Amino acid sequence: MDWFHCNQCFTRRGSKFLVSSCGHICCEACIKSKQCSVCGASCSYLPITDEMKPQEKSFFKDPVKLIQSRLQHISQIALFQQTQMERVTAHFKHKSIELERHLKEVSEQSYRQLAKLKRENAELKKQLSELKRETAELKKPLSQRRVSVPKIY
Ligand SMILES: [Zn+2]
Ligand SMILES: [Zn+2]
Repeated sequence: MDWFHCNQCFTRRGSKFLVSSCGHICCEACIKSKQCSVCGASCSYLPITDEMKPQEKSFFKDPVKLIQSRLQHISQIALFQQTQMERVTAHFKHKSIELERHLKEVSEQSYRQLAKLKRENAELKKQLSELKRETAELKKPLSQRRVSVPKIY
């Protein structure tokens, strides 16, 4: 913070500089009263020191450096948000893979069950036709039966 000079005597040297509420910079020697020695407005003074608030200090910083630090801050924000998005994306991707695997398992299980039921159904149909045939056989008169009836003495 050494680019400025007193707006009254234009010195760049001096133990202390102050900035007025009307926007003028004066060295300590040029300040005589509560009135600005440059424009005459009644004003208050803020000493230009390292203890100024960041907001006040920024008026004395190199604009290029200000932009650089803002850009750095903005890129930090962008990185933070990107990381957040990546986290969410990864979560849903993982979830989707899990669901897909589960779906595959369930459908494979269903196919196996279906095949088993088909086999059982075929077996039952076979048994049913066997029973029908036996029933028809039993309904026939004894003389027509193919099965040999043991002789009763
Ligand atoms: Zn001065
Ligand atoms: Zn002034």
